[in-house]
Amino acid sequence: MERAGVVIIGAGVVGLAVGARLSRPGRSVYILEKHDSFGRETSSRSSEVIHAGIYYPAGSLKAKLCVKGNRLLYELCAKAGVNHRKISKLIVAVDENEEEDLEKLFKRGVANGVEGLELIDARRIKDLEPEVRARRAIYSPETGIIDTHNLMKYLAQKIKDNKGDLVYNSCVVGLRKVTTGYEIDVKDAAGDIFTFASGVVINSAGLESDTVAAMPGIDVDKEGYRLKYCKGQYFRVGNSFKCGLVRRLVYPVPHEKAAGLGVHVTKDLAGSLRLGPDTLYVARDKFDYEVDLRRRKDFCSAAAKFLPFLQEDDLTPDTAGIRPKLQGPDDDFRDFVINEESLKGFPGLVNLIGIESPGLTASLAIAEYVEGLLRL
Ligand SMILES: Cc1cc2nc3c(=O)[nH]c(=O)nc-3n(C[C@H](O)[C@H](O)[C@H](O)COP(=O)(O)OP(=O)(O)OC[C@H]3O[C@@H](n4cnc5c(N)ncnc54)[C@H](O)[C@@H]3O)c2cc1C
Repeated sequence: MERAGVVIIGAGVVGLAVGARLSRPGRSVYILEKHDSFGRETSSRSSEVIHAGIYYPAGSLKAKLCVKGNRLLYELCAKAGVNHRKISKLIVAVDENEEEDLEKLFKRGVANGVEGLELIDARRIKDLEPEVRARRAIYSPETGIIDTHNLMKYLAQKIKDNKGDLVYNSCVVGLRKVTTGYEIDVKDAAGDIFTFASGVVINSAGLESDTVAAMPGIDVDKEGYRLKYCKGQYFRVGNSFKCGLVRRLVYPVPHEKAAGLGVHVTKDLAGSLRLGPDTLYVARDKFDYEVDLRRRKDFCSAAAKFLPFLQEDDLTPDTAGIRPKLQGPDDDFRDFVINEESLKGFPGLVNLIGIESPGLTASLAIAEYVEGLLRL
């Protein structure tokens, strides 16, 4: 049986960030991934926004790790040449009755330690974004966009340089506590099962992280670890002239208990505009990544409130992603779960569950946090 110093389950951006942080010559780190390459699930289906950390309740892991991760990510991008752009963002109030919520959000962002936030009026909005219609806005200079694939490629290379192993086509199907740590059963592409042993296991399995957490015997319902899947669809603006009318990211004021941030406008590194994602809770046993063309009208009318030049036939269906959410419809805020499970009788096992947005932004800070929990 192969014995590893650390086993990480899942090669999304978070598993890769943890792997890059923990791997080093002399410590064997294996990252087990069921697909034939890294980042084939949620990490390749996001808005690719480097969030500033405005939205999350003060003191939550989402707030702390987003603010810290934002800084770490810009530092890494500059050092490693990962494609990104700090293009900034506006959160816009279009009606008078949204202004109170906008002010609350501004205060929350300031309390979270987000740098450079400003509340700006309609004149300043016109200077920054002549084609955006809004009464007031939060201007967030620390928000940006990133090429996630480029980031993941860098992290995967770092793992290899540190003598870590990325093991693809390897689906974890069993996880048992034994006296020396854990045994991890893995099914390969041919259907053969082989077993790894390790004293440290990090469950970064994204949409399947609750299933993996249940394998050694954790009661995921009792612990509040059960995931709900929430689909987010995108439409692309096909008209390149219209894409050029907006320079930065533009978001609406989110509703307090909403599962997402509201249909917003992101720009990618090539300069195209995308609208989305929406929020649609879906059944776990039959979800897909199709974009429903019938949603086009709703997307257009949501975005046209602040981008009046948009018309329905500017929009074509783009991608979709699935959020691994702990928060169900109408539930209150749920934070990331990042727990070392000694108190449940599983020392050396770290569960990362509900790593939805801002998981990409927070990835490097999550890796640092996990390292702190393990004290390796
Ligand atoms: C629509 C949408 C928009 C988003 N926008 C943003 C954004 O703009 N900014 C931001 O910061 N965040 C955003 N996010 C969140 C961000 O994408 C995620 O937090 C992040 O990608 C999670 O990474 P991960 O590594 O935890 O999960 P994943 O990328 O899902 O990786 C988990 C990996 O585990 C593997 N796996 C699962 N089960 C097993 C098993 N049994 N054995 C082996 N491997 C297994 C999977 O194949 C997968 O590769 C968005 C998410 C969505 C859905």
